[in-house]
Amino acid sequence: MNCLFCQIVEGKIPSTPVFQDDQSYAFADISPKAPVHVLIVPREHIGRLDQADESKRALLGHLLWTAAEIARKQGLANGYRIVVNTGEEGGQTVDHLHLHLLGGREMTWPPG
Ligand code: AMP
Ligand code: ZN
Repeated sequence: MNCLFCQIVEGKIPSTPVFQDDQSYAFADISPKAPVHVLIVPREHIGRLDQADESKRALLGHLLWTAAEIARKQGLANGYRIVVNTGEEGGQTVDHLHLHLLGGREMTWPPG
C-alpha cells in the first residue's frame, strides 16, 4: 500500500519524531498551523476514524491519551485543540487516521 503515513511510520520517508511507542507514532506536521502542530498516528494502517471497528476501541483511546501526554510534555498548560478530520467533507487529505494536536496560540471557533 502506498500510504504516506505508513511510510513515515516505517521510516521510509523522513519526519521529525515527537513521541513513539508500540502502538503510536507522533511527528511534527510539515506545514504547521500553530506553534505546536503534532500529528499522532497509529502504527497500523487505519484509513479513517469511521473505518475503525470495535476492535480498535482501546487503540483509539491510546491515541487520545498520547495526544494529551504530548501536550503535557510540550507545556501546553493553557489549552490546546485536538482535531480528527474525517473524510472528504471533514477535510481529511491523508488517508491514514491521524490526530492533530494544535497549541501555542488561541484557537478560534467555529473552525472553517
Ligand atoms: P489532514 O488534512 O487532516 O488529512 O491532515 C494531513 C496533514 O498532514 C496536514 O496537516 C499536512 O500538513 C500533513 N503532512 C502532509 N505530508 C506530511 C509529511 N510528509 N510530514 C509531515 N506532515 C505531513
Ligand atoms: Zn497508512
